[in-house]
Amino acid sequence: MPTITSNLSPAQPISISPDWKVQLSQAVTSIDELLSYLDLAPEQLSTSQQAAAEFSLKVPKPFIQRMEPGNPKDPLLLQVLPVSAEMQQSSDYNKDPLEESKHNPIAGIVHKYANRLLLVISPACAINCRYCFRRHFPYSENRQSKQQWQSALDYIRSDENINEVIYSGGDPLAANDNFLSWLTTEIAEIAHIKRLRIHTRLPVVIPARIDQGFLNWATATRLKPIVVLHINHANEIDAEVARTINKLLDAGMQVLNQSVLLRGVNDSAVTLAKLSERLFDCGVSPYYLHLCDPVAGAQHFDLDDSVAKQIYSELQCLLPGFLVPKLVREIPSRQSKTLIN
Ligand SMILES: *Cc1c(COP(=O)(O)O)cnc(C)c1O
Ligand code: SF4
Repeated sequence: MPTITSNLSPAQPISISPDWKVQLSQAVTSIDELLSYLDLAPEQLSTSQQAAAEFSLKVPKPFIQRMEPGNPKDPLLLQVLPVSAEMQQSSDYNKDPLEESKHNPIAGIVHKYANRLLLVISPACAINCRYCFRRHFPYSENRQSKQQWQSALDYIRSDENINEVIYSGGDPLAANDNFLSWLTTEIAEIAHIKRLRIHTRLPVVIPARIDQGFLNWATATRLKPIVVLHINHANEIDAEVARTINKLLDAGMQVLNQSVLLRGVNDSAVTLAKLSERLFDCGVSPYYLHLCDPVAGAQHFDLDDSVAKQIYSELQCLLPGFLVPKLVREIPSRQSKTLIN
C-alpha cells in the first residue's frame, strides 16, 4: 500500500447542511472533490473517469465524514469510488442479472414472490454503490405520476395473495414525505396488506432523513413498518447513525440489516462479526448477507463461492446464531432468495 506523503494539502473540512434535501442535492459527484476531503491523490487509487461516466459517483457528505483520511483502502471509500476494474468486460456479468425486467408487470412494480411485492418508489439513490445490482435498471421507464400509481395500486388490490408491500428503489426515502404519506394511506386501505417494508440506505448515509416528516406518516399507518437498512461495514455506523436507528426503534419499527459480501470491503469473518456486534449494540438484527450479483462492472467485488462459504463458517464460530445473517444469493426465477451452505 502506498504511504501518504506529507506534501499533500491537508484534508478539506466538510460542511454539512442540517436539511436532508440539501444534503441530498449536495452529495459529492466528483472524484477529485471526494479525494480532496480524504488527503488522497488520484494516483494512489486506480480511479476511472470512464467508470464514473457509466455510473456516476455520488456520495453524501455524512458518509464521507466516516471515511478514514489517508487510507486508500478505506472500506467505505471502496464502495463508492469509480475504478478502472469496473471496465473489464465479462460475458457472465450482465445488465439485468436478476432478470427483473421479466417481473416488471407494470411500471413501478417488481413482483417475483407470491406474497410480497416490491414498489420502485424513487428512481434515485442518495449514494451510488459501485456493486449495485440495479445500476443498469431502467428507472426512467419506471418514473411515475400519482395518477400512474393508480394502476400499481389496482394491481395490489386485485391480488389477495399479496400481504406485504416493499418500498424499494433506488432509495424510497429519496421521495418526499407528501407522496410517501399519500401512497401509504392508499396501501393501508387495501385489507389484505399487513406489512410495509422499507428498504433504505438513507438513514445510514443521510441520517437527517429520519425527521418528524418521515416519522409522522410511517407511524400513522395501521401497517406494521419494518425498516431494512443496508450497511456493509461497522465504520458506517457512527454516533449519529446510532441515534437515528434509535428513533426508528422508539417509533415501534422493527429494524433489520442486509449487507453484501464485497471483496476488499468486508470479506473477513472478523470484519463481519464486528458489524453484527455493532448492529446488535444499536438494536438492529442482521438479516441477509448477499453474495454479489453478477452485474456488469462489479466483478472485482465478487468472491468465489468456496471463499464465501469459508468466511461464513468462520463467522458462525464468532457469533451467537441470532447475530449471523443468512447467506443468500438471488437466482432468477426462484420463488425466494436461495440459502447458501
Ligand atoms: C429480495 C426481494 C424481496 C424480499 O424478499 P425477502 O426474502 O422477503 O426479504 C422481494 N421482492 C424482490 C423482487 C426481491 O428481490
Ligand atoms: S443504495 Fe442500494 S439501490 Fe442504491 S445504489 Fe446503493 S445498493 Fe444500489
